[in-house]
Amino acid sequence: MSANLAQLLVRSAHTYPEQPALAIGARITCTYAELAGRVSRLAAALAQQLPANERVALVMKNCPQYVELLFACWHAGLCAVPINAKLHPRELEFILQNSGARLCFASADLFDAVAPLADSVDCLEEVIDADSPRYASLCAAAPMAVAAREAQDPAWLFYTSGTTGRPKGVTLTQKNVMAAVLGYFSDVDTIAPGDAIIHAAPMSHGSGFYTLPHVAHAALNVVPESGGFDAPEIYSLLLAHRGVTLFAAPTMVKRLVDHPVDADTTNLKTIVYGGGPMYVADCKAALARFGDKLAQIYGQGESPMTITAMGKAIHAASDHPRFEARLASVGQAFTGVEVRVGDANDRPLPAGEVGEVLVRGDPVMAGYWANPAASAETLRNGWLHTGDVGSLDADGFLTLMDRSKDVIISGGSNIYPREVEEVLLRHAGVSEVSVVGQQHPEWGEVVIAFVVPRGAPPDKADLDALCLDHIARFKRPKTYRFVEALPKNSTGKVLKTELRKLLRDVQA
Ligand code: AMP
Repeated sequence: MSANLAQLLVRSAHTYPEQPALAIGARITCTYAELAGRVSRLAAALAQQLPANERVALVMKNCPQYVELLFACWHAGLCAVPINAKLHPRELEFILQNSGARLCFASADLFDAVAPLADSVDCLEEVIDADSPRYASLCAAAPMAVAAREAQDPAWLFYTSGTTGRPKGVTLTQKNVMAAVLGYFSDVDTIAPGDAIIHAAPMSHGSGFYTLPHVAHAALNVVPESGGFDAPEIYSLLLAHRGVTLFAAPTMVKRLVDHPVDADTTNLKTIVYGGGPMYVADCKAALARFGDKLAQIYGQGESPMTITAMGKAIHAASDHPRFEARLASVGQAFTGVEVRVGDANDRPLPAGEVGEVLVRGDPVMAGYWANPAASAETLRNGWLHTGDVGSLDADGFLTLMDRSKDVIISGGSNIYPREVEEVLLRHAGVSEVSVVGQQHPEWGEVVIAFVVPRGAPPDKADLDALCLDHIARFKRPKTYRFVEALPKNSTGKVLKTELRKLLRDVQA
């Protein structure tokens, strides 16, 4: 038996053939035996068309076919390229070209936008609507055995969001992805047959990764009918399925907490949050609402979902003397993963000192696709350079400050936006906040806070007073700008680049 990710599905189908595998909303669409059968047929059709290691792009909103296609690609010895379905056709074009994808599957609603790219992207032979008779015919091919794979074979090309320049394709091998699966079981949560995961976050990203541990343990993959995140829908799905996990960006968790229902959440097993900072006040509110069901992960495309984790037990240990500090952290290194906070020469810094977060271990990418210069730069000295800035405490808990490019330098001092944001969120009148630097002739940069108020905007003098109570005077925002909402990307990350651009436009 080869160590192919596709074996995870084959094994579950052998052991739990009758367990439900996929659902749309409350409706089960297939069992594990049926899913494995469809995947092996689809894989055979793909393998007839493409030799091993070729790339197959997926431009699809969350749908059950996502799971089929991921596993069919691996079953056939191919590499999946899941692409953010919200990208502009020009961005899609770049990724299709860059990855050398020869086939692209699109969900029905996106097909018309994607199909013309077959003319402009040289390598692309066909765009297939995942809801069409053509797709159904692929699922009717004669089944094939799982293709042999080596640990270093590419399994998933993950395109970075490219907030700075062109997106880069992170090459994740069979070994990298398998390490992320094992990491889930060792450090995030247990999964039993019959449990479920609701894919409310994009499957091209973190939620897609979490199909793997759930398939590995014969749990149900649920795609909400809306195809995305809708708080009332999540609450109603919790009545339909049991042992439910949700992977959610912190902003989604906040929306669930803010949703005014007295819903029954007995069936909720775990909310795994990550992908962006969870503020302490929001984390406590979520613990108060859901009980001890929270786990956190910190990862990035280059070490998918797998750098540090903080399990439910630590979230539950409210009597621990460092409870608050731990909630403000992203937890400890995953089992078998090394995390270092390094100086400019990648040497380890003592506990408490701030530097770049470096990572080494099995989940760390092989490199960027067809980009040896960027790979060498990011993986220099054998460490993944995350671009995140943080510090480790004496117990190995990592606290992230910010992306290095988000750090504000004012009058020669470093200001970490996160620290200022945490303070402002203590104010009852502040719902969300994002702090950025604005160019300033005298200070280099000054601190600007974009605040989403909860009801009437709070008094600026109160916000100032709060800051002066908790942080050094120079970190206090010079200006508060009250806004209705913060700009966010499809995975819920606040787009600080857009906030900075807004400030430049105002200045110009
Ligand atoms: P991506 O590669 O799009 O998944 O983005 C990864 C980045 O999101 C990381 O480098 C961090 O800056 C941020 N991130 C991910 N998880 C967390 C977390 N738990 N807390 C704070 N930031 C996070």
